[in-house]
Amino acid sequence: DSVFASVVRAPEDPILGVTVAYNKDTSPNKLNLGVGAYRTEEGKPLVLKVVQKAEQYLVNDQSQIKEYLPIVGLADFNKLSAKLIFGADSPAIQQNRVTTVQCLSGTGSLRVGAEFLARHYHQLTIYIPSPTWGNHPKIFNLAGLSVKTYRYYDPSTRGLNFQGLLEDLGAAPSGAIVLLHACAHNPTGVDPTLEQWEQIRQLMRSKRLLPFFDSAYQGFASGNLDADAQPVRTFVADGGECLAAQSYAKNMGLYGERVGALSIVCKTQDVASRVESQLKLVIRPMYSNPPIHGASIVATILKDSNMYNEWTVELKAMADRIISMRQQLYDALSAKGTPGDWSHIIKQIGMFTFTGLNSEQVAFMTKEYHIYMTSDGRISMAGLSSKTVPHLTDAIHAAVT
Ligand code: PMP
Repeated sequence: DSVFASVVRAPEDPILGVTVAYNKDTSPNKLNLGVGAYRTEEGKPLVLKVVQKAEQYLVNDQSQIKEYLPIVGLADFNKLSAKLIFGADSPAIQQNRVTTVQCLSGTGSLRVGAEFLARHYHQLTIYIPSPTWGNHPKIFNLAGLSVKTYRYYDPSTRGLNFQGLLEDLGAAPSGAIVLLHACAHNPTGVDPTLEQWEQIRQLMRSKRLLPFFDSAYQGFASGNLDADAQPVRTFVADGGECLAAQSYAKNMGLYGERVGALSIVCKTQDVASRVESQLKLVIRPMYSNPPIHGASIVATILKDSNMYNEWTVELKAMADRIISMRQQLYDALSAKGTPGDWSHIIKQIGMFTFTGLNSEQVAFMTKEYHIYMTSDGRISMAGLSSKTVPHLTDAIHAAVT
């Protein structure tokens, strides 16, 4: 008998499991709106042209080797990633009080940041929005933090519960960590306005709450990298400290390359260098050092002003296609006279629409229409195209009538 005979089967991951079910479906009309990965109008995954160009450049560059990177990753990549999120003119960067380490995409950056906080920060409670990306509570729990939630989404308005958010953060213990989606909140697509961000910042600074930004969609919300980083930059501009986890999965389409960065903005250069020395102690026993290829692609693009500009054009095109899908779906539901107010589809931001469909309606759409999405009614707008909008519209219509 196996020594593992008592191991019980674990449930599928609620998000990645949607793709598993989709792959098993043999219907020609099947549609996967579960996972947050960009698709073209033809429904195909996209490798950005500028990424192909950077890879070509790397292949031809004789100095490219496959030796280990340092524990903290590729130096150029780290510097350029900090500039990307905090801004080229960021005083925190100029004063050398930011430490940035290359990590395994957004997930790995969050985990390394959380492990560091669990070892070295005095207040081990982290507040995450309700709802949030399903991996957040697990990442922070397993790192040894105690996870609490703050109110974020109001189902009645399908918008922000700003009052609830302020009350919950206002009642948090001094020093608590607060996870903030930098832009394009997943799964709700609801972001605070800049005025609301300012109120959140003032409240958090007055209560000494520590901001931990999750930036998985910079450029994907508005199509503009600087605009999407504005909330993070206002927190850094006040001189206070914060953490930021960056992912290049969506905005450079580098999903499987697992390339991201964790930055910790500190009060002084001396603190930042001591923090970095401890981040190395977190990383070394976990995976020694990060992979080289994805970070080299990103550094090549960010370093070269032509490639950087090409990237922003391709990024804007992806963001615009998503925004256009919102409009098309909204128009199609209106034209069909589907009961209910669907204006949240065009008001929400980023990759996802939080439709308001409940788990029974989702199950119905999967069974009858072969449309796959998470059971909370979240659909990836990036997985939709002009050709599939009518099918989705029919399914939503049938589900609510
Ligand atoms: N945070 C949020 C809010 C996300 O939606 C995602 C991707 N689904 C991530 C982090 C991390 O993704 P990755 O590890 O692929 O960069």
